[in-house]
Amino acid sequence: MKKIGILTSGGDAPGMNAAIRAVVRKSIYNGLEAYGIYQGYSGLINGNIKQLELGSVGDIIHRGGTMLRSARCEEFKTKEGQQKGIEQLKKFGIDALVVIGGDGSFMGAKALTEQGFPCIGVPATIDNDISGTQFTIGFDTALNTVLNAIDRIRDTASSHERTFIIEVMGRDAGDIALWSGLAGGAETILVPEEKYDMENIAERLHSGQKRGKKHSIIIVAEGVMSATEFAEELKKSINIETRVSVLGHIQRGGTPTGFDRVLASRLGARAVELLMEGKGGRTVGIEKDQIVDNDILSVLGQPRKFSSDMYDLSQVLSI
Ligand code: ATP
Repeated sequence: MKKIGILTSGGDAPGMNAAIRAVVRKSIYNGLEAYGIYQGYSGLINGNIKQLELGSVGDIIHRGGTMLRSARCEEFKTKEGQQKGIEQLKKFGIDALVVIGGDGSFMGAKALTEQGFPCIGVPATIDNDISGTQFTIGFDTALNTVLNAIDRIRDTASSHERTFIIEVMGRDAGDIALWSGLAGGAETILVPEEKYDMENIAERLHSGQKRGKKHSIIIVAEGVMSATEFAEELKKSINIETRVSVLGHIQRGGTPTGFDRVLASRLGARAVELLMEGKGGRTVGIEKDQIVDNDILSVLGQPRKFSSDMYDLSQVLSI
């Protein structure tokens, strides 16, 4: 193997740049050439490919987003689209590919591997919703961004003695809501993995008020419902006035945390090692601080285990 291609695909996540840098530098360190594929699978189909040198990935480790840019590409879901991609890879003499993204992007990596082109998936999404890894690249940064917002909202909630409902991202997963809610001292956390009970929520809010609590924070994961819908539900069922804050895309940007940069560096480097060992069709991840790899088929479509223990703890600590 002489040439490795790298692309980022799907939603961007802070730390993707650190992963790109690790793949490029680890490749060059081992005497390989690295090729950046711009705009995900759409750039692959169109041959938007350039060789990357050591300096091409300088000054990016601390930047959010992705220097290779990202895209969603419907055409790549078809056999014809995938064939066009393989033709481009052959044209550039690229032997193997590292795909940095979420599980949709891994589907593309799986399809290429099945057609004889070895790919390794590096999990990067703020949602932390990929199995085979305890953490995805970008989750820790998003968590800290949300936490920062919760702390600020808490100040104003407290001054005005208000109940705030904060909607956070996560798609169908509740990790951003759970971790930020626990770390931010939220009174109530709504996640798609656990049913909520309106009576219980009302009881918590009322008992808090009785004890003289000046504010309440409710975190709603977008996978449950919108914060506005939940505010209406609260008003209808227990006649509580609330304020709504939807954090939106600020959660996807920003300087990656130290944790995300280190994770991205370790996962990116391991992806290159696997390709050098002649392996494809695998994903890398972290479990108990060890870098692991898994068959891509065992990861795709598998829901990540939700931490019910942490959810229970959040209930205990927010009485
Ligand atoms: P995130 O969850 O953070 O948004 P993702 O990687 O899951 O990231 P998707 O939009 O689901 O994001 O997928 C990204 C791209 O991967 C798609 O636009 C498409 O090009 C490719 N892809 C998705 N599903 C498939 C599939 N079944 N076969 C081939 N390619 C696919």
